[in-house]
Amino acid sequence: MDDMGAEEQDGRSSGAGPDGTVRRAFLSLGANLGDRAASLRAAREALAALPATRVLAASPVYETAPQGLEDQAWFLNQVVCVETGLEPLELLRRCQAIEQRAGRVREARFGPRTLDVDILMVEGVESDDPRLTLPHPRLWRRAFVVVPLADLWTLARGLTTVDVRALAAELRREQAVEPYRDG
Ligand code: AMP
Repeated sequence: MDDMGAEEQDGRSSGAGPDGTVRRAFLSLGANLGDRAASLRAAREALAALPATRVLAASPVYETAPQGLEDQAWFLNQVVCVETGLEPLELLRRCQAIEQRAGRVREARFGPRTLDVDILMVEGVESDDPRLTLPHPRLWRRAFVVVPLADLWTLARGLTTVDVRALAAELRREQAVEPYRDG
């Protein structure tokens, strides 16, 4: 059994990955079908259980107007900061498995989904690989991502030169993002 398998077996969920590098990463969670708050909670728990990964912080949950395909239910969105020893592509694979386990249903791009997990930024990593583009290509246009990211801005310092709080205030004037009380 390899090291990662061993970590999974005994349930440990922190420490360096196979190459010894631990990086901070920001993930965006979104849900607009079924029990949306339960989907986000399950996603946070699944992230915390990943090998070599620790959840450092989770933003408040926001209720947000759909962008792109507007004739659908409002989303719940949240940003989570993790520290992980997983390689970025392995982290993506794990996030996609979490989406699948949440019973993700999605018929149209930008359409309704049980759970969407996107990787926003990974410390020290830039990539234009279409499988994993970093920072996420639509990150800075989306209030539903930038507003919760701004709540975690102290952790984001050093990962971006963007003034996240100023951008959040600007985007919020155009796109509806409301605090979700029962989150
Ligand atoms: P979506 O279904 O909108 O979540 O998009 C998922 C697709 O985008 C997958 O094929 C991923 O490989 C790709 N992708 C590219 N960059 C990223 C990223 N930063 N985070 C998540 N998925 C990404």
